[in-house]
Order: sequence, then structure tokens, then C-alpha cells
Amino acid sequence: MYSKRFEKETFKEAVRENVRTLYRKNIAEASPQQIFQAVSYAVKDIIMDDWIATQKAYDEADAKAVYYMSMEFLMGRALGNNLINMTAYKEVKEALEEMDIDLNVVEDEEPDAALGNGGLGRLAACFLDSLSTLNYPAYGCGIRYRYGMFKQKIENGYQVETPDNWLKEGNPFELRREEYAKEVRFGGNVHFDKDPETGKDIFVQENYESVLAIPYDMPIVGYGNHVVNTLRVWDAKAITDFQLDAFDRGDYHKSVEQENLAKLIVDVLYPNDNHYAGKELRLKQQYFFISASLQTMLEKYKKKHSDVRKLYEKVAIQMNDTHPTVAVPELMRLLIDQEGLTWEEAWDVTTKTCAYTNHTIMSEALEKWPIDLFSRLLPRIYQIVQEIDRRFLIEVRAKYPGNEEKVRKMAILYDGQVRMAHMAIIAGYSVNGVAKLHTEILKHQELKDFYEMMPEKFNNKTNGITQRRFLLHGNQLLADWITNKIGDGWITDLAQIGKLKAYVDDEQARKEFMEIKYRNKVRLAAYIKKHNGIEVDPNSIFDVQVKRLHEYKRQLLNIMHVMYLYNQIKEHPEVSFYPRTFVFGAKAAAGYKRAKETIKLINSVADVVNNDRSINGKLKVVFIEDYRVSNAELLFAAADVSEQISTASKEASGTGNMKFMLNGAPTLGTMDGANVEIVDEVGIENAFIFGLSSEEVINYENHGGYNPTEIYFNDWEIKRVVDQLMDGTYANGNHEMYKDLYNSLLNTQCTDRPDTYFILKDFRSYADAQKKVEEAYKDKDRWSKMAMMNTASSGKFTSDRTIEEYVDDIWKLKKVFVKPVEE
Ligand SMILES: *Cc1c(COP(=O)(O)O)cnc(C)c1O
Repeated sequence: MYSKRFEKETFKEAVRENVRTLYRKNIAEASPQQIFQAVSYAVKDIIMDDWIATQKAYDEADAKAVYYMSMEFLMGRALGNNLINMTAYKEVKEALEEMDIDLNVVEDEEPDAALGNGGLGRLAACFLDSLSTLNYPAYGCGIRYRYGMFKQKIENGYQVETPDNWLKEGNPFELRREEYAKEVRFGGNVHFDKDPETGKDIFVQENYESVLAIPYDMPIVGYGNHVVNTLRVWDAKAITDFQLDAFDRGDYHKSVEQENLAKLIVDVLYPNDNHYAGKELRLKQQYFFISASLQTMLEKYKKKHSDVRKLYEKVAIQMNDTHPTVAVPELMRLLIDQEGLTWEEAWDVTTKTCAYTNHTIMSEALEKWPIDLFSRLLPRIYQIVQEIDRRFLIEVRAKYPGNEEKVRKMAILYDGQVRMAHMAIIAGYSVNGVAKLHTEILKHQELKDFYEMMPEKFNNKTNGITQRRFLLHGNQLLADWITNKIGDGWITDLAQIGKLKAYVDDEQARKEFMEIKYRNKVRLAAYIKKHNGIEVDPNSIFDVQVKRLHEYKRQLLNIMHVMYLYNQIKEHPEVSFYPRTFVFGAKAAAGYKRAKETIKLINSVADVVNNDRSINGKLKVVFIEDYRVSNAELLFAAADVSEQISTASKEASGTGNMKFMLNGAPTLGTMDGANVEIVDEVGIENAFIFGLSSEEVINYENHGGYNPTEIYFNDWEIKRVVDQLMDGTYANGNHEMYKDLYNSLLNTQCTDRPDTYFILKDFRSYADAQKKVEEAYKDKDRWSKMAMMNTASSGKFTSDRTIEEYVDDIWKLKKVFVKPVEE
């Protein structure tokens, strides 16, 4: 047993006591939310012992730690996951049953911690789970947004965003730590003086505004090892009167401004995925959490060590995309202005501490801040950026004499902008991509000048996911079955799931495997009935595309293919067609017009198709409202087909693809991102691959695109579907509703090229691959082998493997073991 305090009677008493002291109620009187709070406080109380023990063990070992800096942590729910990792889920479930409480119902009371948009934020969450499970000292550093990712409502087929007030009922798993507050300064001006004693330059920031950063800690429980790491997210509060300089105290205007800044800065997560918006408040958010985190990191280091020139021996900073890149000049500032290091000493430390992960090659996602904004907001930081750039360009000119083209291409400051990726690459000692194909594209296309100059920095770390959440918690039937067959080693060593390959030719095992899939489909069908009011047949093929809505992810290709199938079924009702349920789930950024139009189209097609009695339920289309981590767990478990159909070269890795594979859903996809490696592992015969290759896409792009009108006029079935965007079929006769989508595919008058994402180009190939899916599914033996082979071949895609690679190649951490406290 993980802890005596999980023994049934002890735990039940703790829950009863919590209901009593928190709400002055007994269990029968308490609401489900109150039960959730009471159960969570009981669990947190048990976590607390290990949390303290872990921090003590780190202190004694004086171990190196990684600081994972990320604007996003898409954590989802904590209660179920904590119980899973404390190996107490089943005991607690039984204990609660004895009190007539259903743990599933209690779990459903918890709002998702949706402090992220999609893949990048969820990756950060999976990494924290793996770091704890693998005994590595780690801190997640981020922002405690008061409003996380918006809640999505579908009204009349349209997406409507509502605020995600996730803290409304209080968060039982966080700890406010007011005593560790840090001041962060913005704006004003910098003047420099000579220190009268040392004669050194000192920089003084004046007339600035500041806010107080208040940390909240959330426990990250490792699996069965008593390790509890910390996710530290920062809240903001106004600097109070007594903290101000005498000079500022009477300044009413300033105090109101600082109140406003404190309120605004952590108010809301920017809901853009893979898209740079360039908002001033966003840069404030970035500097706010980075400055507070680095101040804390330095302070902690200095408690034990006197020489900050050796900081890199005890800490590594990983920057999750360019969003945390102000960490580079901020660390320089702290080391020079506060710690008194020379530029050369500070640069040595910084470039041995900071590492950068690149997440995209799409130009619209590249972070570039206007210099005037950047320098006004962060005057001292800007000076440091200028100096980094100046010194770097000396190196470039030395290496490429007379080649000003190189300077233009690689400078940090260029054309009135601060290019954050360039700063991250120049200062980072490691630059990694997130899948093999993506890293190759970085090295040989997008970042080739940097690769040429500093090849030793570049490396690949293929993404991964945690099997604890996405199988052990999300698919308990399959998890139990696997453990029954091969033991429970897979929970912390996913390579062992390969042992299932021995059962692929075992008819009974395959029958059981598919029976579990069926039961998970029944569970999802009930969710759909409850939330959408639509009846779907669990015997139909569950074909699932869930991810952020983005043109490059090509939900439009999927739904146009549904329109194409519907046309065929209507035209040839006599032709056999295996019943199919197409499931979509996707949030669109609030200002992304084409993405929102695509959501409306999916819902309109669903309306028409689901209500057409003449097709005998052969086709159903379901849009899952508010796709997020908690309902994602149900979707992966129930999927037959995993739609991973991005335009080749555009999806850096994808991680949804890995969650589906783990749960036994073959990939229907392009050779993009980690799909390439999935196919390597599972075998091309156990996937459905279609479409242009990344080389072909890049080649077309380098030659001005391709001509979609040719396809439009030569393939009448494609033409019919495209025309249906404009003829009112899915718009109650309105001819304008999908005009933007239509134009995105065909209109040559558009400023951008038509069909930038090769939807018509790949359409035939996709339809053919879909036909092959149907053929394969009809052959029950063949399909069950494919499904099981996917689960059995998913070992590589655990975030445990990814983290071990980061540790070996980049962070160089040592494991620390924690002894559970005696009870
Ligand atoms: C895994 C995950 C993603 C990323 O999905 P991709 O298909 O890789 O884009 C996004 N959102 C949620 C909720 C996830 O769990």
C-alpha cells in the first residue's frame, strides 16, 4: 500500500471530517462539488508528506534540477491522476463506494486546469508527469491564468466562446506562497552610473511600473515513487503602498495604473495555437513569469552556493518554444546588474544554462516583437538584447566576410523587429525539434544558416505522451487487460507493451481486445447521447479527428470527404457501405475566421446527414463541444480510426496521434510529424498513409504553389463537393455562408495562393485511403490485428523515453530517490 492513510476506514474518516469542517455538513447533505473538495483535500493532505520529503531529499542531494519554462501547462484534472500515480485509485474508489459515492461522478466535478491551448501545453504537462515518475528534480514555471482556455459552446452550429472561470470553486490542489513573492518591473527608462566604490557601470531603471508576482505551487506526483515535484504558477498583485519608495507614495495615478496592470497581466490565456498575435500584454505576461521564476531560481541557488558563475552545474532552463526567450536577457541582467558578473562571465553562464525547443516552422507562428514596443516595455532587457546581437554579428562577419546576406538572415534585430527564435538559438546550448522529420526540416530548410554555423547545438527529441493518464486512467478496461497479459511493468516502462505482440495471433486475446474497444465505444456513445442528443451505433466505425482547429490540420478535408461519401450513398443506395461515425472536436482561436467557418460547416453537415432517414444511419457526424483533456481521455479510448491528416511538413510532431495509437486506433494520415515514426514502429501495413510527401509540398511551395482549378475541372466528384459549399446545400439555401472556405480553395484573386494546404491535391488519395479503411475494418480478423499491433508498437511514444533523452543529451540530471515518511 502506498500509504496507510489510504486504508479504507482512515480515508473515509478523513473525507467525513473534511465535509464537516469545510461545510458543516454530513456526507448525505453534501453536494457533489463539496464531496469533490473534501476528497481532494484528503488526497492533498497525503501528498503533502511526500512533497515535503521530496524537497528535503533534493536539498540534501544538492542535485541539479531542470526549470521547464512554459507559457502553457494543459494539465486537465488532477484528482484521478494523483490517485493513479499514488497507486491508490482502486482503494479510494472502493472506500467511496462504501459511502455510496461514485468516484467517476466526483472526478467529473473537477474543472480542467486548461492553462494551455493544445499540443504544446499538453506536452509540458506530460513532461512533468514523466520527470516526477523518473525521479528527476524539476520545476514547471508558468502563469496562473485566472481564465484558462475558453469554454466552447456550439450555438446554432457556431462556436461561441465563454470565459473559463476554473477557480470559481477554489482549487484544492494548489498552495499559495505569498512569502515567496517577487517584484517585476516594466517600462520607465534606464540611466547608467559609475559605482563610486568599484568604478563599474551600474544600470538604474527609473519611473517604472511594477507588480508583485505571487507563486502558487501545484504538486506533481510521480508514479508509485513518492516523488512530488512542483509546478509553480504565478499570480499578480499590485504593489501596496508601504512597499513603494517614499517618492512614489503620493502618486495616485501611478498606484491606479499598477493596480490595473496587476489585474490584467494574468487575466487570460491567449487562445491562439500556432499563431503569433503580437499583443503588448502577451509580452508583459512573458517577462512577468520569467523574471519572477529566474529570481526565485537564483535565490534558491545562492542559498547553497556562493559562485553564480557555476550556476549551470545545478540548473538547466528549458524554453518551451520562443515564448520564454526573455529568459536569456533577463538571466544576463540578473547576473550582471544584480550579481556583478562581467558580460563575458554572464554570457558563459547563460549559454551553458538555457536550451530551446522549437515547435513549428510556420511563418505565421514566428515571434517577432516590434523594437519600439519591446524597448519601451523592457528598456534594460532591450539594451542587453542589442549587445547580444552586436557581439553575435561580429562572429557572423568573421565567419562569412563580406556576406551581408548572412547578417540579414541571422540577426536578432532586423527590420525594426526582435526575432525571438534567433535569440533563443544564439544563446541556447541546445536547439531541438520535436520529431525526426521536423528536426531535419529545421536543419536543412528553416534554420539552415544557423545549422551551418553551429551544427553541434541541433538535436531531435521526438515528443511523447504519458501512458499513466492516457491509458491507465483514461482506459481502465484496457489497462487491466494489458496488466493481466504482460504484468504491470508497462506503466513505468512502456517498451514492455511490445510483449503484446505475442498475442496478436491469439484469437481469444484479439476478441477480448476488441470487446474492450466496444465497451469504450458504448461509453462514448452515452456521452454523445447526453451532450449532443445524437444516437450513434457502437458497431459503426468510430473515425475521430480531435485537435485544435487549424487550416494546416485540414478538418476541411475530412468534412468535405464526408460530403463526398454522403453524395455517393444518396446516389447509389444499393452499394454496400460500412456504417461510419465521424467524430470531430476542435476549438478555433476566437479571431480565426476560416476556422470558425469550418466548425459551422461540420455542424451543418451533421444536421443534414444525421437527419436524413433515407441513408439508414449509415453515416453520422458528431461535433464534441469543448474538446479538452478530460473528454479527450474518453475519445482516444473509443476511437477506431485516428485522423492525422495535416499537410505534410506542417505538423511539427503531433501528440494526439500517439494517444490514439496507444489505445489501439490505426493512423489514417500523411507522412508528417511523428506519423512518420509511428509508421516506422507499427509497419506501413498497420496504418493508412496518403497524400503528398513533405518534399513534394515544399517543392510546390518553392515554385509558387499548384493549380487547384485543374483538379476541380477534371474530377467531377470533387467539383460537386466544392460547389456544394456555394449552392446552399449545407446552409439552408444561403450562398454566402461558406464563401471564404470556397475562396480559400479556388479563388486566384486572393492575396495568398489558392488551396495553400493542398486539400484538393490530396483529396483523391485521401478518399482512396478511406476506402481501404473500410475494407480493412470489414475483415474483423485483420482489423483486430492492426488495432492490437498499434497498441503493442506504441512503446517509443511515452514521454518517459522523451524525458530520458532530454536528461541524457541536454539537462544531465541525476535521479533522486525519496524515502516515504514513516507513519
Ligand atoms: C494531445 C492533445 C492535443 C494535441 O493534439 P494534436 O492532435 O497533436 O494536435 C490538443 N488538445 C488536447 C486536449 C490534447 O489532449
